[in-house]
Amino acid sequence: MTDTPRIHLGTALRRDADAHAEGTLDHLTYEQGGEEQRLTFAEPAPYEIDVNPLGGGEMYLQGEFSPTLVMECARCLRDVPVPLELQLGTLLRYDPAVTLPHLEEAESGEDVLVFGDPDLDLSAYLAETALLAAPLSVLHAPDCLGLCQVCGHDLNEGPCEHSARVPVEEIDDLLGIPEGTVHAKQNPFAGLRDLKLPEGDE
Ligand SMILES: [Zn+2]
Ligand SMILES: [Zn+2]
Repeated sequence: MTDTPRIHLGTALRRDADAHAEGTLDHLTYEQGGEEQRLTFAEPAPYEIDVNPLGGGEMYLQGEFSPTLVMECARCLRDVPVPLELQLGTLLRYDPAVTLPHLEEAESGEDVLVFGDPDLDLSAYLAETALLAAPLSVLHAPDCLGLCQVCGHDLNEGPCEHSARVPVEEIDDLLGIPEGTVHAKQNPFAGLRDLKLPEGDE
């Protein structure tokens, strides 16, 4: 297990030699917006990377990375492992003025990973690639029942007192009370209909 995925590009830069790195990661720590971020994987994530010099401080990186992200079920919030198989491929450009490796858009419109330390730390690049490939939301099972809206009980583990009651209330609301029944029963004048008014004097 490696702490930080690094690839040594000094020789690639000096002598146009190919470089290779591989290992497994149980997490990635990287900097984003001045804050340290941590991406933890559900199981050791293997990576394998090759870099081929293109000349003039530019190189091409390609490889594979198979992280299993931990996401929350959108309904019941339990952890869900999300395995990804990522094909990596990006241009690299060496610029000694750069402190943090980062992606830039090249004139061609392609992304270029710009770096200043020949001992290139790929943490941010791998984390960003994994997060971009992750689904927006996941369910731990297609028929996840979610949480009780009242008490937060996980309904996948069985009903709670609310789940037994709520449906009955819903049925009452649905059926409603037939229009006019209450009115007809309670109308104090309902009986007047049959009352015979006294005939007027003739
Ligand atoms: Zn769920
Ligand atoms: Zn409940």
